[in-house]
Amino acid sequence: MQPILSLDNISYSYHNLNGETPALSRITFDVREGEFLAIVGPSGCGKSTLLSIIAGLLKPESGSLFFRACSSIGYMLQHDHLFEWRTIYQNVILGLELNKNLTKENTDYVLQLLNDYGLYAFKDKKPSELSGGMRQRAALIRTMAIKPELLLLDEPFSALDFQTRMTVSADIGSIIRNTGKTAILITHDLSEAITLADRVIVLSKRPASIKYELPVHYDIDRTSPLSIRNTAEYQTYFNLLWKELSDDLSYGETPNRTN
Ligand code: ADP
Ligand code: MG
Repeated sequence: MQPILSLDNISYSYHNLNGETPALSRITFDVREGEFLAIVGPSGCGKSTLLSIIAGLLKPESGSLFFRACSSIGYMLQHDHLFEWRTIYQNVILGLELNKNLTKENTDYVLQLLNDYGLYAFKDKKPSELSGGMRQRAALIRTMAIKPELLLLDEPFSALDFQTRMTVSADIGSIIRNTGKTAILITHDLSEAITLADRVIVLSKRPASIKYELPVHYDIDRTSPLSIRNTAEYQTYFNLLWKELSDDLSYGETPNRTN
């Protein structure tokens, strides 16, 4: 099957008054339809730059990017960017409103998502009345509302405390799996990468190049992050990634530290 997205030898540098900062070096990979891909790498290596190129916000300096026809993209960031002057419902329909696409079918879909993900009773509340995990779910629903074929997630859980983070990432992981979406998740957190993804790409320090690719498979299903963490495969994957990343870290930094 044709991949939904292919990157071929993508390189990118930032240019400013202080000179040139090479950020990406010859990045090549494909993403299959329905695949959940995680990308990990040291802080500042070029992960967000890579996602911005995929989202079309930056143009690659060299190399090419190929999208299967008509692929639409949803982008979710570290901070939920919910607007406090809008209710949760008004926030989650924002993308539809901006695209002038507020049809009954689409608003019904949003109400369904709010219901499925435990936010229906909160739809008329303001973001500040919700917990961090609920806000992050609302941000995901807003991203899903436009029915993107490809979801780009840039460290979406790193503002959450450890326990919330585990629950919310598991929730969001199953939402994405159940809807069959293709997703690219950037994360600092190795555990998150190997509990959620079908494949993990490890980037080198800046300028990022691909150091290592790890296909991830478990014999049990993924609904419980705790049971995944107790499997032998998880330990093996974790150790492999830890080793790959440790080679590239500056002193004092641990692989799952957030920005
Ligand atoms: P990551 O997301 O992996 O932490 P980024 O992709 O945000 O890293 O940044 C990669 C490198 O490019 C960093 O060294 C960063 O300081 C630099 N960088 C990011 N944005 C800009 C910019 N607009 N101008 C110059 N340098 C930038
Ligand atoms: Mg980043």
